[in-house]
Amino acid sequence: MAAPDPRPSVTRVELPVDTRALGGTTNAYLAAGLLVDPAARIEALDAAVGVDESGVAASSSTTAVDAIAVTHTHPDHVGAVAEYADLTGAPVYAHADHVDRFTAATGVVPDGTFRDGDRVDDTPIRAVETPGHAPDHVAFAVESDAGGDGESGTGGDGESGTGADGDAAGATRDLLCGDLAVADGSVAVAAPDGDLREYLDSLERVREAGYDRLRPGHGPAIDDPEPVCQRLTDHRLDRERAVLAAVEGGANDVESVVDDAYQKDLTGVGDLARATVVAHLEKLVAEERINDGWAERIGGGAPGE
Ligand SMILES: [Zn+2]
Repeated sequence: MAAPDPRPSVTRVELPVDTRALGGTTNAYLAAGLLVDPAARIEALDAAVGVDESGVAASSSTTAVDAIAVTHTHPDHVGAVAEYADLTGAPVYAHADHVDRFTAATGVVPDGTFRDGDRVDDTPIRAVETPGHAPDHVAFAVESDAGGDGESGTGGDGESGTGADGDAAGATRDLLCGDLAVADGSVAVAAPDGDLREYLDSLERVREAGYDRLRPGHGPAIDDPEPVCQRLTDHRLDRERAVLAAVEGGANDVESVVDDAYQKDLTGVGDLARATVVAHLEKLVAEERINDGWAERIGGGAPGE
């Protein structure tokens, strides 16, 4: 059909995984040679990365993968890192401060590391530290010089012309944002991994950076990052107000705060609600907005390294 596009495009493959996230799938992305979040091995991802059923590179001796990385090491993002590292022979990269955690989660000792702002291997993709959902959470920034966004059927996005050819004004910046954001609903920021202060900071930095599009770890792309970041921030602050009101209203253990702050049937999600409330209480303790006796009641002290 169309002529090959030499510029970075982003391919998304939805993978069935054991996740509570919406849809029960995790998105793997292939962008400019970087494979992100290979959470499971399926045929469609094999095809995208250029290996056939027997695991052999489909075209001569090379695959489409120059490097492999993950947005964070939660189990629903890392399931096939080792397998695709074997299949493609591509080096695996992890955040320099979280190598042990990465190895424990993936079974792979990384070949290289990155820090905030670094390019991953020789790809043009840069790591963007976005802790909060998990301490090792990063996003990956994909910059392209031209309007092509790698997806057929999308409009010109406010640009004149088809955007099909080298128009410098069509430069776009996408962020593969992992579990920092989702198009609908919200992401979990829950104890012990979640840190709400870091999460809100990360969200703010990503919003200020003005990306054209966020591509989440679960669900569809976010074409309007600004209002979605605002909605996610508001959601956290609403919940924080409810938690604070519960404490000020006399709730004196985590369970009573959960009951007061949610006031709905939590069947099936009670543990997540509790872990979320603990993350909120940790933030409030750290900010000295509630009595530090809560540090003991939530059984872990204040967040931080
Ligand atoms: Zn996660």
